[in-house]
Amino acid sequence: MRKILIANRGEIALRIIRTCKKMNIKTVAVYSEADEELPYVKEADTAKLIGPPPVAQSYLHIDRLLEIAAEEKVNAIHPGYGLLSENADFAERVEKEGIIFIGPSSSVMRKMGDKIEARKTMVDAGVPVVPGYESENMTIEEAREEAAKIGYPVMLKASSGGGGVGMVLCEDEQALNQHFEPTIKRSQTYFGSGKLFIEKYIANARHIEVQIFGSATGEVFHLFERNCSIQRRNQKVIEESPSPSLTEPAKNKLYHLAVQAAEAVGYKNAGTIECILDMDENPYFLEMNTRLQVEHPVTEQITGYDLVEWQIKTAFEEKLPVTKQEDIQVTGHSIEFRIYAEDPKTFYPSPGTLTKVHFPNGEGIRVDIGYEAENKVTPYYDPMIAKFIVTADSRHSCIQAARQAFDSVSVEGVKTNIPIHKLVLDSAEFMDGKYHTQTLMNIKGE
Ligand code: ADP
Ligand code: ADP
Ligand code: MG
Repeated sequence: MRKILIANRGEIALRIIRTCKKMNIKTVAVYSEADEELPYVKEADTAKLIGPPPVAQSYLHIDRLLEIAAEEKVNAIHPGYGLLSENADFAERVEKEGIIFIGPSSSVMRKMGDKIEARKTMVDAGVPVVPGYESENMTIEEAREEAAKIGYPVMLKASSGGGGVGMVLCEDEQALNQHFEPTIKRSQTYFGSGKLFIEKYIANARHIEVQIFGSATGEVFHLFERNCSIQRRNQKVIEESPSPSLTEPAKNKLYHLAVQAAEAVGYKNAGTIECILDMDENPYFLEMNTRLQVEHPVTEQITGYDLVEWQIKTAFEEKLPVTKQEDIQVTGHSIEFRIYAEDPKTFYPSPGTLTKVHFPNGEGIRVDIGYEAENKVTPYYDPMIAKFIVTADSRHSCIQAARQAFDSVSVEGVKTNIPIHKLVLDSAEFMDGKYHTQTLMNIKGE
């Protein structure tokens, strides 16, 4: 009997448990003192208290996780996303304990998890990257000189940043001077490294990413694209697949680029190649996420495959249900709405106790949720409550179904971004599909 430890929490832990049940695999969940009441703790076959609420003492506590893994004699660890999922040191420790890490090898993760390293690897592989500059221990003089060469506006980015944190837009040299030191400091605090690089800021860009998958025997497949350009604070809020308003040649170029990028590092397991497209549809590699993505459900909905099942099979060196690229086809259209406990005016987190949680069900509706009524959304973790995923035959009917479905969604007790989703669904920009990363702010009237 196989047994997997899930080093995560909330909806992603439940999502992994669901596939494990289907595959007849036992699950061990871990929870902090703040998460004891959450549904995933009850759903797992075994649940172990990991520590106090702060992540450093709980979900990021590698020694404690490995201790539980040993006690429970698990065969494998699934890291989910966020938290330790892109931590190469963790993956390496797991490998050294003789436990299977459900993801790529720690060496590949180390290369692609660091944005500067990943950029260099992609340049060597002939993949176009956003024009930029990187160097060890960049000085402010160096940054000024290089930013002037690249041309303002530029993005100053932490090499180990994620979730929209660690990057700042600099309109001119004065802004660069002002943000340089604080960005290094913040990056050190959040990600343990102050390494920075500079990128040209692409105006009115689209964020389009390609889901790739490397099999145990070394073939790399793509599972099409996701448009994730509806964002706030450089973080995704709505994602859809297929991407509207993207020509076939541009799509094929992206798939090719993504497979090329993954093959260049001998990638195995699930990964995402994130690209940014300028107004002329030119794609530039942005970063690779060496893990399952928050928005993986839209890909599952249109391809019919279970990506967590693929991840587990590949980690155990089993065959995938496909043998060639043509086996993966798109049917219909899917949109994911991330429901956050946040103030829809400021986008600041709004923790509190959920008094009511209701989502409709029915054909084409999928709800990946980590909470139920009476649960607390605490300030310790990401404020995402649920992912509401609507799928239909065409984009048009998908949007209509989503509008209708939102009428019977109600989440009470905390402020949520549900009004934002309704605004987007009713906007001409979203309808015509030609939206970009600033569109949400425009719709909101900022
Ligand atoms: P992606 O790049 O996969 O689309 P993000 O850019 O939002 O997603 O980054 C992943 C985020 O997931 C992290 O910022 C982290 O805060 C968040 N996260 C980690 N674990 C959980 C969880 N169990 N539930 C909700 N969010 C989580
Ligand atoms: P993270 O690791 O936080 O996900 P990314 O590099 O993937 O960081 O960027 C997140 C988002 O920030 C992108 O989807 C995009 O909206 C914006 N962004 C990042 N780099 C640039 C850039 N060079 N030009 C314009 N927007 C950018
Ligand atoms: Mg990203």
